[in-house]
Amino acid sequence: MDKKFSKEIPSFMLRKFSNKNFLFNGMKKKQFLKKISNLKVKIGKNCNKRKFCILCKKKLEKKDKFFHQSLRFFSCNNCTHVQSEFIYSKEIVQSLKKIIDYDKIYSLDPNQNLSKLKDIYKPKLDWFLQVLKQRKIKFDNLSICEIGSGNGLLLSLLEKKFKKLQGYEFNENLFLDAKKKLKDQSRINLSKLPIDELISNTSYDIYVAIFVFEHFFRIYDLIKAINEKKPGTIFFFSVPMLGFSSILETIFKDDFARNFDGLIHQQMFTNKSLQYFLKKSNLNIFAQWSFGQDANDMYRIMMDNIEDNYTDELYKFFDTNLKTIVNSFQKILDKNSLADSIHILAQKKK
Ligand SMILES: [Zn+2]
Repeated sequence: MDKKFSKEIPSFMLRKFSNKNFLFNGMKKKQFLKKISNLKVKIGKNCNKRKFCILCKKKLEKKDKFFHQSLRFFSCNNCTHVQSEFIYSKEIVQSLKKIIDYDKIYSLDPNQNLSKLKDIYKPKLDWFLQVLKQRKIKFDNLSICEIGSGNGLLLSLLEKKFKKLQGYEFNENLFLDAKKKLKDQSRINLSKLPIDELISNTSYDIYVAIFVFEHFFRIYDLIKAINEKKPGTIFFFSVPMLGFSSILETIFKDDFARNFDGLIHQQMFTNKSLQYFLKKSNLNIFAQWSFGQDANDMYRIMMDNIEDNYTDELYKFFDTNLKTIVNSFQKILDKNSLADSIHILAQKKK
């Protein structure tokens, strides 16, 4: 198996969610955090308690619980997969949507889209194609689909390499946005199907899902759907991982949580739960790429917390020197299974 570590954090991402830069749906950080904290108080009311693990279906127990971001979570005693204590009610989900809307996260200005295309999606596509080439897989004529195409950035890059391509997006505004980026607009579909059914009802040689699986709460059904695919089917996916950022977000529970916020990300993969997922799905892993933004989170949180206290000169000293080590520090985390995310290229066993 080919293991790759690290990816340079693009400069436009550095301290992206700092006190000064923070702007979300027109809200400054303080206002945003207040809304989030008010919402967290409501969690539990009219919500059912989770009884079984999202991933392995084993019974969750009291001793599996832990606190994070003022909420309770389980780490399953069987597979260690991390998941919220409660199944969030429709009311909670709707209130959350009003604060954090996917359309708004991804409706970026064209300049930012261009940076994302070049610094985020292009390297991912290059890695994916390079692994296929190394494996001597002729991909030109393979059929491919992307689940959760978002605003179509990766899909527009895939369009240049694959003739038989389809994308599926669940959010109507993002679907419309994706349409504009494609040469052939019939390549994007608005889907209302859950991920497991979408996989079961389609037949492609390659399935791509970049940061999608964590938004689905029946991973055991996803495993079943993958298992029913023909041998040799390729899966290229990424998921967030319980890593260094998660601990930062546990410690700084009142600060902005980018990764394990407990709301958008109600579940997190661990190294063990990811292995469990691959094994039960009968996926043979070709390659993995571990890289995160944990060091950037650390840099941001540290600077935000000394901003109003340290003198300007001390603040500048730490800002300059911490910024310098972000990428080298991240490399250490990536190599030691502490990165906040992982990209996987795997194939259904023959
Ligand atoms: Zn489990």
